Amino acid sequence: MTAKRVYHFEETLEGDRNMLLGGKGANLAEMTRSGLPVPPGFTVTTDACRAFYAGGKTLPNGLFEEVRAAMEKLETKLGRRFGDPRHPLLVSVRSGSAVSMPGMMDTILNLGLNDKTVAGLAEQTQNPRFAYDCYRRLIQMFGNVVYGIDGTEFERLLHRLKQNRGFREDRDVTAEAWMQLIGQYKDVILQKACKPFPQDVYDQLREAVVAVFRSWNSPRAIVYRNVHRIPDEWGTAVNVQSMVFGNLGDDSGTGVVFTRNPSTGENVLYGEYLTNAQGEDVVAGVRTPLSIAEMERRLPGIYAQLARTARQLEAHYRDMQDIEFTVERGRLYILQTRSGKRTAQAAVRIAVELARDGVIPKEEAIRRIEVSHLEQLLHRAVDPSATVDVLAQGLPASPGAASGHVVFDADTAAEWARAGKKVILVRPETTPEDIHGVIAAEGVLTARGGMTSHAAVVARGMGKPCVCGCEDIRIDLEQRRFTAGGRAVAEGDIISIDGATGRVMAGTVPLREPQITDELAQLLSWADDIRGLQVLANADNPADAKKAREFGAEGIGLCRTEHMFMSADRVPVVQAMILAESEEERRLALDRLLPMQEEDFAGIFRAMDGLPVIIRLLDPPLHEFLPNLEELIKRHLTLTLSGQGDTGECRETDRLLRKVRQLYEANPMMGLRGCRLGVVHPEIYEMQARAIFLAAVRCAKEGIRVLPRVMIPLVGHAAELKMMRELVDRVAADVFAAEGLTVSYRVGTMIEVPRAAITADQIARHADFFSYGTNDLTQMTLGYSRDDAEGKFLNVYAERKLLPSNPFQTIDTDGVGALIRWAVEKSGVVNPNLKHGVCGEHGGDKESIFFCQSAGLDYVSCSPYRVPLARIAAAQAKLAQARAQAEPAAVG
Ligand code: PEP
Ligand code: MG
Repeated sequence: MTAKRVYHFEETLEGDRNMLLGGKGANLAEMTRSGLPVPPGFTVTTDACRAFYAGGKTLPNGLFEEVRAAMEKLETKLGRRFGDPRHPLLVSVRSGSAVSMPGMMDTILNLGLNDKTVAGLAEQTQNPRFAYDCYRRLIQMFGNVVYGIDGTEFERLLHRLKQNRGFREDRDVTAEAWMQLIGQYKDVILQKACKPFPQDVYDQLREAVVAVFRSWNSPRAIVYRNVHRIPDEWGTAVNVQSMVFGNLGDDSGTGVVFTRNPSTGENVLYGEYLTNAQGEDVVAGVRTPLSIAEMERRLPGIYAQLARTARQLEAHYRDMQDIEFTVERGRLYILQTRSGKRTAQAAVRIAVELARDGVIPKEEAIRRIEVSHLEQLLHRAVDPSATVDVLAQGLPASPGAASGHVVFDADTAAEWARAGKKVILVRPETTPEDIHGVIAAEGVLTARGGMTSHAAVVARGMGKPCVCGCEDIRIDLEQRRFTAGGRAVAEGDIISIDGATGRVMAGTVPLREPQITDELAQLLSWADDIRGLQVLANADNPADAKKAREFGAEGIGLCRTEHMFMSADRVPVVQAMILAESEEERRLALDRLLPMQEEDFAGIFRAMDGLPVIIRLLDPPLHEFLPNLEELIKRHLTLTLSGQGDTGECRETDRLLRKVRQLYEANPMMGLRGCRLGVVHPEIYEMQARAIFLAAVRCAKEGIRVLPRVMIPLVGHAAELKMMRELVDRVAADVFAAEGLTVSYRVGTMIEVPRAAITADQIARHADFFSYGTNDLTQMTLGYSRDDAEGKFLNVYAERKLLPSNPFQTIDTDGVGALIRWAVEKSGVVNPNLKHGVCGEHGGDKESIFFCQSAGLDYVSCSPYRVPLARIAAAQAKLAQARAQAEPAAVG
């Protein structure tokens, strides 16, 4: 027997309700059972959706009979019949998966209207204008969702009707005008879908259910799932719910309310309300709505009931709720509740306040934070002291500031972004079809729509700055420009938007560094109490080191010394060192570099007083510091061809050319770099080690607590590390003897060549710590060039789902991860005190941090701005591990 696939809201059910009924269905059921005013209805399960796809996109056997039986039960409950010409039952049909995907899948309202029932509705409500408005909406939504007809086909006709007949707003349109439009809409359906709009209400229902199932695989839903990593096989449920009407007059309306402000997290009711409007009008941003505070003034009774319900729902779900409601002739109905999408700032504040109020434990507060969103908080904002040229003011829908070239459609946004341009997507309003443009853009600006409009919800979810409902701007899509306060901005011009204040500004604007709020500081301190992994930072100058420390870094995990060689004043000295014809000549150049390096290290030691600083000796291939070979050839040729062949300049170019050719490598990433440099030219590493110890002694004499750690890069063989360690120890002993002071230090190595991981037990004999350089380790384990793979083929791999994620962002646990686990285990046997950490880009990636926790590492090191999120992720990783360890015990 097939399992039950249709559940009425009031029915109880065993198993994972969220998974089977989708979030919306599960919540409707829960609200119904707790006595809230929810219009009755039923849910078709996600199992049915999976069966639909398994059966080649056809409704599974017997499913529609179950739906029909459920409709009949609904008819009995409401005393109205589906398709009854006098007293028709109308329903909405909406999608809803286990995780809410705002606006990504489809909704049809007013289903059950046809040429006959519309007359019954008009009669019954004594409001023909309303009835025909509902009917034209149904035809439009049905045409769009079921037959895939572009919404603009209908909008165009509505626009023309309003213009010809002088109606300003939809609510001015008369019943007779709606009837005329309905005739035109039906023609559109006939022409585009090659069949008439179905008059049989059960045909409507069947096609709508199929369309909702299909919408699970619409391009926009797929893009959304990829971004939010929602599994393709989950499928969507279908919710069929009896209609209530917000467009029955001025005592009716529809709205969305959040139990707290989703932008700031402030504990106040927050939302929007549209009088005499239906369902999707609010979220679609068709008209700019009233604030909920305004609703309180106009409809105090309803507001009080809404506020009570909102509090009840938040207490029940122990989280901020996003509630859709409709008022029908003065009666409140709740259509949906879900945990509300929120900005990072709001997420932190809400989690901390709920924990402080004892609603959730601290651990739960930590778990709830989506660390990738924290980057939003750590983003820059417009410098408040800067004078900016404000073009227009909209609603502050998603914080963060961004500048970029104006583009007017999603395809152009994606194309320009691919070409490396930063863009701001400017639209009258965004629809879910624009999602690829939102992903590509730095930020989004819309002329219409409220804080809960699609653009706002999607941008917040992605942590992008967004200004919406900016009615000051007039967009001319054909001329590809907008005007604001008499000024014109064309496509390609640069503007800035401030999603925290709603300002739209001309040109670029100065930005202020991010700040850590009290709530974030509180959350971080809870995270610090929980986590096991230490969090260090990658920084190679005192300013970054200071920033890292402010963000809570517990030391420097990677100081890339080559970055210190790249300033304009140093490159000539470095070039002289590389081009030296003899060791003696090279030592002269190194003598000039020594005091510079000593100063660099002293600056960092001072900034990190009391904390460890891991300094990596020179790593990249030397030719990176030399002039470009092609340029040199060109210069040489130009000089020779213009008769300047025996000038000093030409001779110098010739000498450079010879040297650069000599150093040229076909595959520099695998060439003379890392410790190989130290082996071939030990005087370079000697100079660096000397500078480190001189700086350490100097700082120690100033009273600073210095904890220097010297790190050897690209070791593949224990003999390499042994030799380099001896060099470092020898220099240290020299310096300490000469300076009359000894500073304790450690020597470790990067593990970034697979052989190093495999022979970790041998290498561990010479090391105090292992720092897994997961950038190179990924490059060399997968054989993917870290410089080229992302541009050349990784995107194709991601699209075809050959890889679960980009291995340069999230650690490839089965390959690179297995090497790390092996190295930890093997090395631990010979050197149990060895410390292990990751310092590649993965050190700031949540999933990779989870891996580091499970592999038993001691620390992660990441860029300063990611330190706070790494602290939270490390706590989450510890909690997840504790839970995983507790679970088998609980079962057993
Ligand atoms: C690494 O390879 O992971 C690393 C941190 O070193 P770099 O990126 O400097 O090669
Ligand atoms: Mg490396």
